[in-house]
Amino acid sequence: MTKKQFQAESKRLLDMMIHSIYSQKEIFLRELISNSSDAIDKIYYKALTDEQLSFDKESYYIKVVPNKEERTLRIIDTGIGMTEEELESNLGTIAKSGSLAFKKENESKDGHDIIGQFGVGFYAAFMVADVVTVISKALGSDVAYKWESEGADGYTIVPTEKDSVGTEIILKMKENTEDENYDEYLEEYRLKSIIKKYSDFIRYPIKMDVTGSRPKEGTENEFEDFIEEQIINSMVPIWKKNKSELTQEDYENFYSEKHYGFDKPIKHIHINVDGAVRYNAILYIPEKIPFDYYSKEFEKGLELYSNGVLIMDKCSDLLPDHFSFVKGMVDSEDLSLNISREMLQQDRQLKFIAKNISKKIKSELLSVLKNEREKYEEFFNSFGRQLKYGVYSDFGANKDALQDLLMFHSSKEKKLVTLDEYVSRMPEDQKYIYYASGESIERIEKLPQTELVADKGYEILYFTDEIDEFAIRMLMNFKEKEFKSVSSGDLGIDSDDHQKDSDTELNENKELYEHMKNLLGDKVKDVRASKRLKSHPVCLSTDGEVTIEMEKILSAMPN
Ligand code: ADP
Ligand code: MG
Repeated sequence: MTKKQFQAESKRLLDMMIHSIYSQKEIFLRELISNSSDAIDKIYYKALTDEQLSFDKESYYIKVVPNKEERTLRIIDTGIGMTEEELESNLGTIAKSGSLAFKKENESKDGHDIIGQFGVGFYAAFMVADVVTVISKALGSDVAYKWESEGADGYTIVPTEKDSVGTEIILKMKENTEDENYDEYLEEYRLKSIIKKYSDFIRYPIKMDVTGSRPKEGTENEFEDFIEEQIINSMVPIWKKNKSELTQEDYENFYSEKHYGFDKPIKHIHINVDGAVRYNAILYIPEKIPFDYYSKEFEKGLELYSNGVLIMDKCSDLLPDHFSFVKGMVDSEDLSLNISREMLQQDRQLKFIAKNISKKIKSELLSVLKNEREKYEEFFNSFGRQLKYGVYSDFGANKDALQDLLMFHSSKEKKLVTLDEYVSRMPEDQKYIYYASGESIERIEKLPQTELVADKGYEILYFTDEIDEFAIRMLMNFKEKEFKSVSSGDLGIDSDDHQKDSDTELNENKELYEHMKNLLGDKVKDVRASKRLKSHPVCLSTDGEVTIEMEKILSAMPN
């Protein structure tokens, strides 16, 4: 038996594969299962055009079989198998993808579910195994072949026996080292959890013999082990199902199964897009703030799947910061992945999806605001601050998208109101949207500056959040109405010719004001008479762009 050599480039590539392409060793199982799934897909596509072939879904599956005594892990599939030539070309040449070739040949047919394309995934097996054996019998062939390799040294191919069409991969697991534990890949629970994590939505059943325990017959309190074949994966992803088949409960279950949160989401958004970029997404607006939400540790992002296979746990590019509270997943078959399938090669499709998702989130939030006011207020109490930061950041680039979602406390309603509500009930003679800033509603209500505006019967927005005034400055106006702080010089109120009056008064009592100013020293810039005051003897005001509340915040910021 002659040992064939990998091509020179392949040797180096193989070394790279084993040592540096993947961030986690457990990925090997994702890759092998993906290959098995592709192999079954290929029979399925063949059956679509070949009348001699029928595809009976029941007889196609993938099975994972650990054996601790032998230290082997077998991945068995009933897929299309490989001929001697195919073993040679697909497994003997790194970066040669039989699946990509198949997709190209069958372009006219619906072959886009096939996962493989780079021709490297298989070699991930060498991250955990010393010896990899592949026994395969191709569809339509009478003979089977065995491919075997210990890594960079090369491989052998010999004829062998195999009853049925398909492929069996046998991994002889590496011995544990000080840093690495390979035994764990022979443990039932570990294998189950890797399958669940990466391959839960593979379309074909992934089976495993699982040990259970049951009460022994005829005994009390005695148990016996039994072995039962189980299907580990959920197969049909909920996001590929029809919305009409799914209940509220289905969505809530998915939310908790996926550990998106411990709360009940206030809203789910199910998107199926079949346009230029195809994708499915299920998104949730949580009810409660995650404990670390407003901390540096919080990581935004959605799960990203390609063809039902998990690629990224938290893809942050899918969510703008102002919607960072959204949880959920996106699955697309149109992503251009990099070779490890852990990252994207280019983000054109991703940008497109992200933009779509953002629009959808906004319109869903608006619909909650319109139709389920209480729920929206609850949501806003949790995440409103993030929306306001969104208005403020990026120099107001998102203000149009976000302004309709904002709410503030108001002098009229003693509850949260939207800007639209405020503007739509403004009396005709009111020029501005008035606001007052302070630590709390109670303190703002006591502000002398609010009196004149309130006396006119105008509504005042109460800004109690540090970010409020900054965000509003970014908006500048809403529906052509400018925002105006109640403490600004010109309030635009008819009787508000106090500037002139105070000048005369100032002249009359000049000495008194001079004296007060001297007593206060640096603390004030000027002391003047004001007509704005009603029941209060005095108020503080600023004459520039920056209000007192903003000054407080700015001076508290680290330089
Ligand atoms: P990719 O899946 O990206 O094509 P891999 O390195 O994972 O690359 O696999 C290389 C090729 O080997 C596949 O394209 C496929 O043609 C073939 N192959 C691998 N595993 C199997 C399998 N279980 N059944 C049939 N063919 C397989
Ligand atoms: Mg592959």
